[in-house]
Amino acid sequence: MASRDHSGRARDGSGPGRYAQDLSRRGSDPTAGKGSDTDLDAISARVSAARADVEARGETFYQGPSGIHLAAFPPKERWDDWAELDSRAWPDRKERRYLLVPTTCFNCESACGLLAYVDRDSLRVRKFEGNPEHPGSRGRNCAKGPATLNQVTDPDRILYPMRRTGARGAGGWERISWDEALDALAARIRAAITERRQNEIMVHIGRPGEDGFTERVLASWGVDGHNSHTNVCSSGGRTGYQFWMGADRPSPDHANAKVIYLISAHLEAGHYFNPHAQRIMQARANGAKVIVLDTRLSNTATHADHWLSPVPGSEAAINLAVARHLIETQRYDREFVRRWWNWAEYLQACHPGRPTTFEAFEEILAGLYAEFTFEFAAQESGIDAGVLVEVAEIVAGAGTRFSAHVWRSAAAGNLGGWQVPRTLFLISALLGAVATPGGVFPNGLNKFVPRPIHIPPHPEVWQELTWPLEYPLAQNEMSFLLPHFLAEGRGRLDTYFMRVYNPVWTNPDGLSWMEVLTDEAKIGCTVALTPTWNESAYFADYILPMGHGSERHDTHSYEQYDGQWVGFRQPVLRAARERLGEEITDTRQVNPGEVWEENEFWIELSWRVDPDGSLGIRRYHESRARPGEKLTVDEYYGWMFENSVPGLPERAAAEGLTPLQWMRRYGAFEITSGQGAMYEQQVPDAELDDVAVTATGRVYTSAPGPLSMNVVPMGAPEPDADGRRAVGVDVDRTVRRGFPTPSGRLEFYSSTLAAWGWPEHALPGYIRSHVHPANLAADQVVLLSTFRLPTQIHTRSANAKWLDELAHTNPVWVHPSDAARLGIGRTGELMRVETDIGYFVAKAWITEGIRPGVVACSHHMGRWRLDGQPRGAGGMMATVGLRRGDAGWTMRRRGAVAPYESADPDSRRIWWSDTGVHQNLTFPVHPDPISGMHCWHQAVRVRPADPGDQHGDIAVDTTRSREIYRAWLRLTRPAGPESPGAMRRPRWLMRPLKPVPGSYRIPDPARTP
Ligand code: SF4
Repeated sequence: MASRDHSGRARDGSGPGRYAQDLSRRGSDPTAGKGSDTDLDAISARVSAARADVEARGETFYQGPSGIHLAAFPPKERWDDWAELDSRAWPDRKERRYLLVPTTCFNCESACGLLAYVDRDSLRVRKFEGNPEHPGSRGRNCAKGPATLNQVTDPDRILYPMRRTGARGAGGWERISWDEALDALAARIRAAITERRQNEIMVHIGRPGEDGFTERVLASWGVDGHNSHTNVCSSGGRTGYQFWMGADRPSPDHANAKVIYLISAHLEAGHYFNPHAQRIMQARANGAKVIVLDTRLSNTATHADHWLSPVPGSEAAINLAVARHLIETQRYDREFVRRWWNWAEYLQACHPGRPTTFEAFEEILAGLYAEFTFEFAAQESGIDAGVLVEVAEIVAGAGTRFSAHVWRSAAAGNLGGWQVPRTLFLISALLGAVATPGGVFPNGLNKFVPRPIHIPPHPEVWQELTWPLEYPLAQNEMSFLLPHFLAEGRGRLDTYFMRVYNPVWTNPDGLSWMEVLTDEAKIGCTVALTPTWNESAYFADYILPMGHGSERHDTHSYEQYDGQWVGFRQPVLRAARERLGEEITDTRQVNPGEVWEENEFWIELSWRVDPDGSLGIRRYHESRARPGEKLTVDEYYGWMFENSVPGLPERAAAEGLTPLQWMRRYGAFEITSGQGAMYEQQVPDAELDDVAVTATGRVYTSAPGPLSMNVVPMGAPEPDADGRRAVGVDVDRTVRRGFPTPSGRLEFYSSTLAAWGWPEHALPGYIRSHVHPANLAADQVVLLSTFRLPTQIHTRSANAKWLDELAHTNPVWVHPSDAARLGIGRTGELMRVETDIGYFVAKAWITEGIRPGVVACSHHMGRWRLDGQPRGAGGMMATVGLRRGDAGWTMRRRGAVAPYESADPDSRRIWWSDTGVHQNLTFPVHPDPISGMHCWHQAVRVRPADPGDQHGDIAVDTTRSREIYRAWLRLTRPAGPESPGAMRRPRWLMRPLKPVPGSYRIPDPARTP
């Protein structure tokens, strides 16, 4: 696939696509790389020789109907009828003709464009390749994109709605109709709403893969029931950025950077993996230096100019040493800091005796990070101080072309991990590398979420099971504490949806999840919206089969470069058959079995919750064009593309298409690129009416704001005491747009952290991790459990046979010195890894690719099902026995993966049996008291396995896990009546689904009946 991505030399140049633009820069085309050129030269030479050979025999050399190199992309003008030779018919030269239909990959959050090759004869998808018209992925994919085909043809997938028979989890299922499922669920939801039990409805979302549809549905029900997976994923990363700039994601412009600074490989093997990875390679080819901090020798680290393998949790100390160097040597962008940092607010709050002048601030700044010398950072991180000096010098030379990124990894692994992005952005903010070419943008500038056809009001209730008082600053829902909250009687759920979510397997402490999922007193009804069986779906009451990435509609937009684009996922067979003139009214007409898509499902379910419209729900799911009738996905997206995506209607009209037709044909639209520093934009006079300006320059106005079509969620500064809205910030007597923070500037000092109980962390700083060496017993080491394999992704990739063959096990990385010390003699030997609540038995992989004193295990593996449960992913799921005794739970493998008979002959060719170990089951919850992030790293004891141990064994004491939950809960500083405004949480912070302002107030017990 890589060579295809990097090819294109023989492209015929037709079409003005993004890829063609790249080619125009070839010669310095970074994505091509020298190695690729050499490879392509060799391939071309071989092709020419083969051609000459064939032609010498008087035969015709087949180049494909395009007349171009087979590795190039089909020109979009020929997507209606593209012909290629059928590889399976070889050596016969049999042509197959295809309709090429774009959609979006759903195998990670990058949302790369795919092009489905729909066979015109059979109307089946024969392969997926990259969509060259997609501005984010630019025709490239990772291995997981084309493997969508495996998921579509997976012999183990779920094709019909099912209801459990017998006890939950016992494995009994009966097929039911969609009508039965919809009516039963609608009745439950309607009863909960009318009986004012709205908080008993929850939709728990794993990978969203879309922007806002589900939140909109819940808002229409008046339910604060959105739950996300984010606090086991990226909250630590988001929190650090949010407090700085009011946007919770960074958008590094890697392609134009001079220096790229990455904290771990996780982002480049998981988050915006392909779109970022290709741009990093582009920059490298242009001479950029890549610095990677990763304790493990990851794929990204292997491409680094400087690979630092720090002690886990010390990354913020390294960042601060670099920042200190910039300050000490006065190589920071003084003017940027003066204009855009909220230093005045900091001085007034923390140094009221000093004049509010920039000079006074600089004096203080010069001493603020004095303790973060290279020697200190070296002591904390184990990296030689000389290496740190070298790296800091490279950073200092980057100027405004410094792109940096951290997402999960250190931010997700450590207590206080949210200070890793906060200190990383400190470097960007010192260099002035904010929204500059090659710098880091707030995601709001590089993301576009179009306004939908109906916007329901905010819910009036507050869900304390997801937003408890103990975590007022949590970046997202405290999702992974749900079993503990339910167990201690904080609430009950009537109807619980799991959607692209498998908490028993993905979350820490999965057996506590299993305990509540099997307790009908705590959760009345569980519903799994899923295309595949998984460890949590086995404990559902209803299984509702949903489509894969090529079988459903969604829109999405992600910050992957300095531009804004909207992508369109669509059921490709529906689009293909419509292109051929058929009318399709329901995606089930084209999907396998009775597989549906979520959007049509949610519309139908909402309609049945409120069939006569008396609850006020139905109107948000009604057609505008045909009042009284149900909204269709065509109208939903048609309206959106017509009314909310600037430039798309004109672009479509130029080709004689409606905007919806254009998106169905090309799959993605770039709205703008080269946004630049939007925060510098001057606020027009028309918006400056009845203005009030604070002492630190925040400007408020009574004038209404322009209606924005882009509804990307960002921080929302509160109105002032007179209800004026924040419109900008006074910078040298000009009102500029600024940032969506309370001050309007970049918040070096967070008044929010100070006011909500954490003044000691109001500045970017260093918090010693729970796995800091000082917190480890003499016989403990750190387990890195957060890294991802580039060819697997959580639950669903197990249903892709190509990916399973590539990666199916997760041995524990151990340094040779540790192996010798621990008595582990060789790779493959079994070892016990003991956590605070149990242990797992895994194979050792002895390697110098990991720092001594640290072990590492990837989190994709160890998939399982209980005896008697349906086969879920034949190539990856072992059969296990699970027992509960006095000491807790034990799990042992009863049947390894083996060849089996199915509709896919490849299932008889499975050659592997080792599918790794499910380590997450043995992790207690570690909620960070500020960000709410689960801190994944574990302090563990490692030793050779006992004689009776078997690979994959698990032992867990959930009583102990509850004790650890309570210990971490004691670290919090809860919101209370003394909190600002007596609120549960600052209103300006993001929430995926915000309730009405009144619900933020903590109820006064004196007034609550
Ligand atoms: S990076 Fe890979 S898995 Fe993720 S969206 Fe792109 S092709 Fe799919």
